[in-house]
Amino acid sequence: MPAGPGGAAATASPSCRLAVTGACARVNGARLAGDADAAPESARRRSAHHAVIEYYGLDWARLPRRAACRQDGSGHVDLSYPPEAEEFRAELRTWLAANIPASWTVPGFWATVGEDEAFDLRRDWERRKALAGFAGIDWPVEYGGRGGTPAMRAIHDSELVRAHAPRSVNSLGLVFLAPTVMAVGTPRQKAEIIGPMLRNEVIWCQGFSEPGAGSDLAALRTHGVLDGDEYVVNGQKVWTTFAGRGDRIFTMVRTEPGSSRHRGLSLLLIDMDAPGVEVRPIRQMSGVSEFGEVFFTDVRVPAPQCLGGIGNGWATAMLLLSFERGAAGISQYTAYRQAYDEIVRVARALGRDGDPVLRQELARRRVELECLHYQAMHVLTEVERGHDLGAASSVTKLQWSQAYQGLFETFDELLGAEVALLRPTADLDLTALRQESFWTRSVTIWGGSSQVQRTIVAERVLGLPRSSSTTARTARRSKRSAR
Ligand SMILES: Cc1cc2nc3c(=O)[nH]c(=O)nc-3n(C[C@H](O)[C@H](O)[C@H](O)COP(=O)(O)OP(=O)(O)OC[C@H]3O[C@@H](n4cnc5c(N)ncnc54)[C@H](O)[C@@H]3O)c2cc1C
Repeated sequence: MPAGPGGAAATASPSCRLAVTGACARVNGARLAGDADAAPESARRRSAHHAVIEYYGLDWARLPRRAACRQDGSGHVDLSYPPEAEEFRAELRTWLAANIPASWTVPGFWATVGEDEAFDLRRDWERRKALAGFAGIDWPVEYGGRGGTPAMRAIHDSELVRAHAPRSVNSLGLVFLAPTVMAVGTPRQKAEIIGPMLRNEVIWCQGFSEPGAGSDLAALRTHGVLDGDEYVVNGQKVWTTFAGRGDRIFTMVRTEPGSSRHRGLSLLLIDMDAPGVEVRPIRQMSGVSEFGEVFFTDVRVPAPQCLGGIGNGWATAMLLLSFERGAAGISQYTAYRQAYDEIVRVARALGRDGDPVLRQELARRRVELECLHYQAMHVLTEVERGHDLGAASSVTKLQWSQAYQGLFETFDELLGAEVALLRPTADLDLTALRQESFWTRSVTIWGGSSQVQRTIVAERVLGLPRSSSTTARTARRSKRSAR
């Protein structure tokens, strides 16, 4: 996420009460989530995350997301943070105040720095933050983490936004790969991958999407053929974030000749500077090239560089993708409120704050952001209790991406055609907001597109009939297995 300008603390009002019964949550009496009792059986089935955990025979208690429940016994949850989390907040705030250069906090600063320089600054700053003990907040201490709670992690992420810290350059590794390695990695992989990643010595890319295999990941065609004790990999990935700057890439590869769909896949860990790896940057409409295409031509990958076991790629990938940031909504709310306040400031500066249509729009966006905030607090409570979010995480993804994109649609309406022009509007430098507006077009695509999320919510949360494409696929599969 881009670290936006402005400032707003994420702490909820202690007078606001969240009541949770089954899967139904109410904030001050208003319902937030689905009602478990009314939900059909399909909605109560174990989620993919549970299934994968069982598949690998993992111990829930050792997984990094698990944390202690904090409940007052009355069926209500206090939305304030516990004292130890507030102590952590104070410690982190002090460190951030002393370590973030004042120039970085000037609105629009990052838009004035070249891409390479910005990446190096961010990489080094994040490394120093880790060395100071402010990384891996909710990771076990044995992996170099702080052994904290999801609430402390939410505070960490939110305080970074509040202090105008740059966003992480290693989030794909830290959020997805690290907990997967902790869960299913070999002792050697744990030792070689986690520490260097935490200190930003190794930046990780994610090599899943291909031309023709995005939402439908099982259609991927990159393949690896065993030759001695190495896989020879050929194929192409696309939309790979930090392709031009990453050091290694966790890559979905078809390693079983003749296999199709979910079978015969493996997750291989490949060096980006290995012979045969070629990166071609893709220029985005904001002008930067944050992602690119990655071509593999006869790339030799040692067989031990497979995570989760050869042929287990699909299960490993599902486990990896299930480690989405349950508590991320708190920092997202903080960031979007900063952007919202900026947009209101611009509306005032342009003399548009009296426009009744715009006022309605701004009020609507603010309501959407406050709903996001309460949903984020509800999700944090669930994660703190060690509950699996399952299909409900699709609701969260839809909610934050639509709220964020919608906010910037209002910004686009405020500027009109000016939004596309890279020049000051009425003496206001809006470069950073313009770039953020361009960026928001992508948030309903990556991490599961809105259309796909709606299908998941319809089928697995609401229990509606399966869509015709899913039904057709299932019919084809049963026909094949009947043969
Ligand atoms: C900023 C950004 C960063 C990214 N970074 C990475 C990365 O680091 N690594 C990586 O592997 N990938 C990355 N991606 C790729 C991303 O995961 C894919 O773009 C995404 O999975 C969608 O795939 P696609 O682009 O092939 O679109 P498609 O899957 O072809 O979808 C095209 C359209 O069809 C719709 N659609 C597809 N299937 C269905 C269906 N069953 N029902 C209804 N509608 C459907 C989609 O919602 C979409 O609107 C990134 C993408 C973006 C935008």
